[in-house]
Amino acid sequence: MTEFRYEHMYPDEFAAAVEKLPVFIVPTGLLEWHGDHLPLGLDTLKVYGICLEVARKLGGGIVLPPNYYGTPGFSTYLGTLTYSEQTLRPLFLELFGQLKKAGAKVIALITGHYGKTQVDFIHAVGAEFAAANPGVHIIARPEYEGVTVNGESPSDHAGKWETSMFLALHPDKVRWGSYRQRITDMKTYPDAPLDYHKETADWTFREDLRKTSSAELGRQAVEAISDAFAADIRNALTGRGFSSP
Ligand SMILES: [Zn+2]
Repeated sequence: MTEFRYEHMYPDEFAAAVEKLPVFIVPTGLLEWHGDHLPLGLDTLKVYGICLEVARKLGGGIVLPPNYYGTPGFSTYLGTLTYSEQTLRPLFLELFGQLKKAGAKVIALITGHYGKTQVDFIHAVGAEFAAANPGVHIIARPEYEGVTVNGESPSDHAGKWETSMFLALHPDKVRWGSYRQRITDMKTYPDAPLDYHKETADWTFREDLRKTSSAELGRQAVEAISDAFAADIRNALTGRGFSSP
């Protein structure tokens, strides 16, 4: 089985992978509260699964280890850790620079953590690097951008879509026994750097996720999202004179 995971490769495998397809796929997310039924690392675990699927579809590319450093975020909710753009901007710009050093012609930065703050940041940091490095094609966006499933954008926070995608990727990790549709006793942190969503101790899911979520729906979303990224990466390679598999 082909190895796509950067950290598992030996130097000769890494060199061969870059030679075959100079594509680096960067999964990024956050540690963030996602209801009682989902783990805190959901955004990153989800996007990591999607990134590996993109590489499988391409038949190549190198997937970086997933990272959990992102902007707010339900910052005041139990278990959420967020970072400022001042911290993250140099981190990502230097990462892109290092990937360019390692031979990247295409870099796909995919965020599994959403919200305007994060999405604006991901767009901006991608555009900033692209402007200064015309030799590298950057794709930087959230999973769901430009994707629809059954006419809907497959995006929410811990709702039907994230729960379904997690059911597809990690079926044993959705803890239905702990699910509450309405949560009135949320533990919140008073000293969060930014109360981005004007968070309160009261949270209600719009629908009963036990009825609306399914592994099948999640599989459709993972397929549509990974198809979209694989297509854009292939187009970027073709535009730069590389033949993609
Ligand atoms: Zn999420």
